[in-house]
Amino acid sequence: MSDASIPEYTAVIAGKQVPTARWIDVLDPSNARRVARVARCGPEEVRAAVEAARHTYETVWRFATPVDRSRVCHRIAEVLRARREELAALETLDTGKPLSQSLVDADVAARYFDFYANAVEALGGETIQQQPGRLAFTLREPYGVCGHIIPWNYPLQIAARTLAPALAAGNCCVLKPAEDAPLTSLRLADIVEEAGLPTGALNIVPGYGAEAGAALAAHPDLDRLAFTGSREVGEAVMTAAARTIVPVTLELGGKSPHLVLPDFDAARAVPQIVESITEHAGQNCSAGSRLLVHRSVHDELVDALVERFRALTIGPGASDPDMGPLISARQRDRVLGYLAEGRRDAVVRVGGGVPEGDAYGEGFYVEPTILDQVTPEHRVFNEEIFGPVLCVSVFDSLEEAVGLAEHTTYGLAAGVWTSDVTTAHWLAQRLRVGQVFVNNYSAAGGVELPFGGYRRSGIGVEKGLEALREYTRCKTVAIHAELPS
Ligand code: NAD
Repeated sequence: MSDASIPEYTAVIAGKQVPTARWIDVLDPSNARRVARVARCGPEEVRAAVEAARHTYETVWRFATPVDRSRVCHRIAEVLRARREELAALETLDTGKPLSQSLVDADVAARYFDFYANAVEALGGETIQQQPGRLAFTLREPYGVCGHIIPWNYPLQIAARTLAPALAAGNCCVLKPAEDAPLTSLRLADIVEEAGLPTGALNIVPGYGAEAGAALAAHPDLDRLAFTGSREVGEAVMTAAARTIVPVTLELGGKSPHLVLPDFDAARAVPQIVESITEHAGQNCSAGSRLLVHRSVHDELVDALVERFRALTIGPGASDPDMGPLISARQRDRVLGYLAEGRRDAVVRVGGGVPEGDAYGEGFYVEPTILDQVTPEHRVFNEEIFGPVLCVSVFDSLEEAVGLAEHTTYGLAAGVWTSDVTTAHWLAQRLRVGQVFVNNYSAAGGVELPFGGYRRSGIGVEKGLEALREYTRCKTVAIHAELPS
């Protein structure tokens, strides 16, 4: 493909398209072909973007009423819905995920804007009864300028998840999309413009993490940071935030378990266990990547899962198979490295490598894989593989199941499968994770369900009403209210 035929995506700062001297190639993961190039921003563009956000915050957005902000957010949702097919096709091209999953992403992105548009009108502070003659109350105020750094797995959904509450609450934003999948986030620029968001309220600076991302995290004029991505980079972002004393939300990785108890009809859990580790080829922070199963139901359940895994279709996302490719050659090789260890340490029940056949060509495909007899000594038990790999371990007692669940340092989500209401309640309280699903597993849950990691899976909460509170700060006002005698 010649350069002229490759679409170019620039940075968007103060409503203007800003090209850069250097560019990053964006590849289609299903065939490794270049489909676009995006601006490679650095400190200079990040500075301009923060300045633009600051200007709009100080002159326009902080004075907009909740009703005005709500109307704009509803309009953003409408435009997202009107353009869902275009956005879904672009998301599939960029991330490789099956088209039907990208359509869901576009719909969920719109839901975020509607949800926070509704919620912000009901947001208020508290009155505090302190003492006679003193009236005290709290105000919820926006922070000001927020920096948002997002990953490549659900770019449109995660951009909407983090931007919608921030904008609805009255903040102005600078978004740094991931270099591997920046296209739909960049498309948001014209969507918010069409919806009437004031110019400069959202600025987008694509680029590499070490350049644009690091410059944004360290910028001294930010008031808040939100990071979604790996634990390693989360540490770097938090360190940068410590230097400027800026609050930071960290949505990091996971190694989330399903706990299947002997009283449950295990066959009923099969579809959701499969979906939870094969949706977007397992590249999902809250993927159900471990199966902890009672010894008495192990054989029946694993046999059923193997059968389902064998039947899964794999192919380019545009043909809407069950599973598309991984995002990049680097990610595929990382997953294959874990599979090599899995072959050595555990028992491969299905999959274990790259699918064979001309149809897969140069794409970054990995087979859906079940590793059985995995134990806490194995690296695949503890580390986030971020691919379609289910690790199976057995337990004999509830205490042992909890011990296995908590052996990793992550704490994002867990699925509990039991017919016993007492066991369900006990586990829901006992497990140190941010979301517990009982007899279902809606990875990451719905727009309304607060989502935030325990332990090393993160700090703070996104989604639900909690996130709106996170993007506002609390100011206390105490008024002396006694008439002079
Ligand atoms: P990553 O940490 O490599 O990158 C995330 C973002 O950080 C990208 O935009 C990247 O460019 C940027 N970045 C990289 N280095 C940086 C630096 N030094 N300073 C500032 N920014 C930098 O993660 P990834 O590979 O894109 O995504 C996969 C990870 O994200 C997995 O661990 C997954 O579990 C996690 N994730 C978590 C959630 C959640 O909500 N908890 C959601 C999706 C993904």
